[in-house]
Amino acid sequence: MRTTIKATLAFCLLLGLSSEARAQTCDTIRNTEPAVQKSFWCTQPWVDFFWDAYDFDKGDWDGGFGWEAPCDLKRPLARTFQAIQLLSYASPNQPTKTNDFKGNILRWGGNYAMREIDELDGRCGDGTARARTTWGVFVDNRTELYMPFFFNENVVERAGTLIHEARHADWCGHNGNDGSNACPAKSDSCDEKYMDGCSGVGSPSGRGAVGYQVLWLWWYAAEADAAHSSSTMKDFARDEANRILNTMFDVDPCFNITSNGGKIITC
Ligand SMILES: [Zn+2]
Repeated sequence: MRTTIKATLAFCLLLGLSSEARAQTCDTIRNTEPAVQKSFWCTQPWVDFFWDAYDFDKGDWDGGFGWEAPCDLKRPLARTFQAIQLLSYASPNQPTKTNDFKGNILRWGGNYAMREIDELDGRCGDGTARARTTWGVFVDNRTELYMPFFFNENVVERAGTLIHEARHADWCGHNGNDGSNACPAKSDSCDEKYMDGCSGVGSPSGRGAVGYQVLWLWWYAAEADAAHSSSTMKDFARDEANRILNTMFDVDPCFNITSNGGKIITC
């Protein structure tokens, strides 16, 4: 989303209306995956730690979103926890502290998302957007996750979306889909270039939200450990990265990736 404060304020008002009615209008159970009893991300110490780290609140995750059943993969909360687990632990060389940013994005991506995302809220949304991050001085900084994030994305895509939103929460807005070379997707979620994707007041420079997302997916394909990946999951990472590379940059990055992290020059 564009980073004008005016735009973010207007968006807050709209959300105030839609979120009040979410329990009545939003079908929060959309798949048949069974509850998981012994997975790491639904143990109490894990939930306690990440509940605080991402500033989850009961009021944002009850009413069917999963507060009552945090291990139930039919509900949004468990599907969010699963993505956070992947983002935090898929590196074969996991960080041991939250302020450890050494190495590649697969290693520090979880720490980055925890540091940058102010709070994580579950919402119905409009049925198309996966997530939206609001940032600025005079607004309630937050990242909202919507139904397509929970149920249309696989867990690898969800982790990629979280790192994308974390880059926004670092005050980096999209700078693409403009001028004479608009991106193939013709979407305001496009970035100008793979290495240049930020704009807005107080914005960092360099790789933007889309670039971060691709880079994380690429490193995931290249070296995610066996406990947090499979050949199917690496195929998911490849497909999502290539979809983004082929449609979400104004200037074609001219490469795709393979499911084991190889690079294919495309133009
Ligand atoms: Zn975005």
